[in-house]
Amino acid sequence: MDNQCPMCRGEGYSIGSLGNLEWFRCRQCGWEFSVAVDHPAVPPAPPNQPESPSVEQLEEWESEGGCEATDGCWVEPDGTCEHGCKSWLLVMGLI
Ligand SMILES: [Zn+2]
Ligand SMILES: [Zn+2]
Repeated sequence: MDNQCPMCRGEGYSIGSLGNLEWFRCRQCGWEFSVAVDHPAVPPAPPNQPESPSVEQLEEWESEGGCEATDGCWVEPDGTCEHGCKSWLLVMGLI
């Protein structure tokens, strides 16, 4: 944070923000100054789309008589978990 006083180079302390300006008051000389603060655009969180399991993984699950849903729940091979996520076999159109 660039809160150095432009008058005496003392340290400013925040006294509030207005729009994209942060206001500081110098601890040393009392000068009030504002600093533009960039509000970086927060990139939208990537959709929580897990990677598809490998064929080997799917076969392993099948041999265990079930399948993982896309959120990791254990469901019937053609099932849907309590969170509404389908099994990978369903999602991948293998069943
Ligand atoms: Zn100052
Ligand atoms: Zn689930």
